[in-house]
Amino acid sequence: MLFEYNLSAQREDFYNITFQVREAVVKSGITSGIAVVFNPHTTAGITINENADPDVCNDLVHGLNKAFPDRPEFRHGEGNSAAHLKTSAVGSSATTIIENGKLVLGTWQGIYFTEFDPPRNRKFYVKVMGE
Ligand code: ZN
Repeated sequence: MLFEYNLSAQREDFYNITFQVREAVVKSGITSGIAVVFNPHTTAGITINENADPDVCNDLVHGLNKAFPDRPEFRHGEGNSAAHLKTSAVGSSATTIIENGKLVLGTWQGIYFTEFDPPRNRKFYVKVMGE
């Protein structure tokens, strides 16, 4: 079963979408299987990281900007090559396990939509498979 969600990403940030993924699992009725979270955009990604201390996501944004700064050598005419680099570094999907009707995540883990070229109206998909 495929679920589509919309997201208004007003700033460069990690947006916690764990609630939506859990909601898709419940709606699907699948109790044992996998949920694939997929981002169809080229300047935004999907990742799993800490959900307890918000400073972790702030540090991830800061660290990615330090690791992938804009460079005068970049040729892409849209001018957002750094956002494309960060997207490839983070990745465009996450696969999660469903068991006993629940997502199997670590205590401190959350699923994040990562925006690198705001502001944008975005969407993401959750594909739930199993029995
Ligand atoms: Zn571009």
